[in-house]
Amino acid sequence: MVLSERILKVKPSPTLAVTNLANSMKAKGIDIIGFGSGEPDFDTPQFIKDAAIQAINNGKTKYTPVGGIPELKEAIIKKFKKDNDLEYKTTEVTVNCGGKHSFYNLMQVLLNDSDEVVIPSPYWVSYPSMVLLAGGKPVIVNTDEKSGFKMNPQQLEEKITEKTKAVVINSPSNPTGAAYTEDELKELAQVLEKRDLIIITDDIYESITYDNFKFSNIANISDKFKNKTIVLNGVSKTYSMTGWRIGYMAGDEKIIKKTETLQSQSTSNPASISQWAALAALTGDGTAVKEMVSAFARRRKLIVEGLNNIPGIKCLNPAGSFYVFPSMEGLFNSKGWDHINKKYEGEHNSSKLSSYLIEEAKIAVVPGIAFGNDNHIRMSFATSDENITEGLKRIKEAVEKLF
Ligand SMILES: *Cc1c(COP(=O)(O)O)cnc(C)c1O
Repeated sequence: MVLSERILKVKPSPTLAVTNLANSMKAKGIDIIGFGSGEPDFDTPQFIKDAAIQAINNGKTKYTPVGGIPELKEAIIKKFKKDNDLEYKTTEVTVNCGGKHSFYNLMQVLLNDSDEVVIPSPYWVSYPSMVLLAGGKPVIVNTDEKSGFKMNPQQLEEKITEKTKAVVINSPSNPTGAAYTEDELKELAQVLEKRDLIIITDDIYESITYDNFKFSNIANISDKFKNKTIVLNGVSKTYSMTGWRIGYMAGDEKIIKKTETLQSQSTSNPASISQWAALAALTGDGTAVKEMVSAFARRRKLIVEGLNNIPGIKCLNPAGSFYVFPSMEGLFNSKGWDHINKKYEGEHNSSKLSSYLIEEAKIAVVPGIAFGNDNHIRMSFATSDENITEGLKRIKEAVEKLF
């Protein structure tokens, strides 16, 4: 049986794969500490669960409008106004089955064969795959820690061609936690100003920032930019609702409408019960979010300091998200590396190192190559302070053996 060329171009999500491996080792009784997971470790706040239970009891269990119930669209519009100073009409907003699905729908609606999408690296693992699934071509802008993992206007300019259909900005970023300041966005905007392309800003980590970092969106620069930007967001990360599958986006009415046409012929509406839960989340008082972010802030300090105390590892302070993306380059010429290099022959350096860490230290991390950078690994600090402390101790022991 010959399968589609589209599906043969993509690999399973490596971040989910690490979580599965760690879970299966745990199930066998092996004491693994997981830094792989891409979700908050907190339970969904009770008031959100209550809203879902109420929705079930009130019979909100049938099909809804394809792009979401009007109440939720209204709450999303209010959120954009209040948090982002962006005004949208109902027809400019749509609700999807998770932020990942929002991006997927967009790619399907925007791309023709070989249309290009500019994606800064390190990137969220799913962007290039979703571009490929839509027949497009991911064009990668490489950044490294010297620029704080942010692209500059020249780098962006170099990658834009006549085929460029869209540019992706993910700030704060998964996997690096890097976030663009308003001034940096203005500089990038100068490159994008005269171009006929769509800017997709994935703001899923908007609410998870530290040290009073002021979140900005390129859509705020001018009406012109608002018109060429699709803003993507969701409740998964902010409200610890990854399993509920609600994402949303806002922007050009024509594009949004076509994503609803696509959705009407594929998933139909996002789960009705989840929509009512998301409505409660967006209209809640934000206390639960504040508590979660203050726990993340404490853990961020713990993990960044701990990693920088280990020989050969260098870690930047992320401006947002709950990930660090430390450089492991210093280990690749250690005495012990030869052995690891041979043992896992044929794999990428960051994968070799991740295999060593899971076997030697019982620590699960995601190899940086999954995000387009082989000198790094991604670690999520959405786990308990105890796990972080114990995990760092184990990594230190395993790494010290290499020198
Ligand atoms: C988690 C995540 C999303 C969306 O996740 P969903 O669970 O599908 O809502 C989108 N973008 C990035 C960068 C993410 O890390």
